[in-house]
Amino acid sequence: MIKVAINGYGTIGKRVADAVALQPDMELVGVAKTRPNFEAETAVAKGYPLYAAVEERRPQFDEAGIDVAGGVEKLVDAADVVVDACPSGIGAENRSMYEEHDTPALYQGGESADLVDVSFNARGNYSEAEGADHVRVVSCNTTGLSRLLAPLQEAYGVQKARVTLVRRGGDPGQTGRGPIDDILPNPVTLPSHHGPDVNTIFPDLNIDTLGLKVPATLMHTHSVNVQLDAAPTAEEVRDLLADESRLFLVPASYDIDGAGKLKEFAMDRGRPRGDIWENCIWEESITVEDGVAPAGQGDAAAGADLYLFQAIHQESDVVPENVDAIRAVLGAADADESVATTDEALGIGL
Ligand code: NAD
Repeated sequence: MIKVAINGYGTIGKRVADAVALQPDMELVGVAKTRPNFEAETAVAKGYPLYAAVEERRPQFDEAGIDVAGGVEKLVDAADVVVDACPSGIGAENRSMYEEHDTPALYQGGESADLVDVSFNARGNYSEAEGADHVRVVSCNTTGLSRLLAPLQEAYGVQKARVTLVRRGGDPGQTGRGPIDDILPNPVTLPSHHGPDVNTIFPDLNIDTLGLKVPATLMHTHSVNVQLDAAPTAEEVRDLLADESRLFLVPASYDIDGAGKLKEFAMDRGRPRGDIWENCIWEESITVEDGVAPAGQGDAAAGADLYLFQAIHQESDVVPENVDAIRAVLGAADADESVATTDEALGIGL
């Protein structure tokens, strides 16, 4: 059994903890939190050993009547791998602790790519993480884009991807985030960081991204245009994407018009926390137009322009990727085996 520790038990950490606990080849040895709150209470209620992430704050847990199993270093020492799900920038501060205990570490998308040996997406570059000591599971948006662009690149070749990301202002629990009544180009300058972040997975991919922030909490939505080398039909693209386990093609007959109904659907299906681990691509939106050949090249170079809309559940799409990254760094399974095991254990596939 692979012994897994989670340091940082918030939005991402608690979901990864639950996912790890469901894997047949993994044991959750504990979770570390900075302070007692409802999430700490829930961790204890679930039977997860709880560790204090900051030694000086340990008395706060005693005062709240919550038993802690020890300090975070003890947890890191006991683990084969640690998943750092702390807020952006804290992972970088924790890196030396993981090195001192010789424990490989996974970080999240809020950390800089420079912090790690390799940035990770299971569909994009699983094998590159094998044996690495420091791996970054890329952000929710980059994960969603990588899952989509990988099969398109393999099947048709990508000349250029252009993506506008309509981003939720904050997660439902982030009461201090906004905007609450505005539509913000964010960042105003181009490209947004998402395109360069996709290049940490696919260094040669030509991609431009633009970002907006809107008063929403449920999901991100991507407006995607991919200029393909080949010229498939829309139906062929649909079939290609339908074969990918972490892409859910939203059928027209479901009458799902946005993130609200997608989340409702996930809750109806009994998904924990209403999570949607898969990209949600509106099947009807998949459209292919004739491409335009670059100047001086014949019609054969014209390719095609693909358009589609996809929604990304920011709180959960990186969860299966973290589980796969655990196996990848330890060389415990190849990509296909790991993805199949993770998908089966979580119940991925809507
Ligand atoms: P969060 O604030 O919900 O959770 C972080 C947790 O870490 C909190 O419980 C916090 O108390 C705890 N923490 C703070 N300092 C700590 C320390 N020194 N040691 C241990 N724990 C500490 O944040 P989140 O949304 O889960 O984000 C975590 C990471 O995941 C970030 O890098 C973020 O960019 C990335 N990410 C977030 C989302 C999202 O939509 N929420 C999606 C993908 C990736």
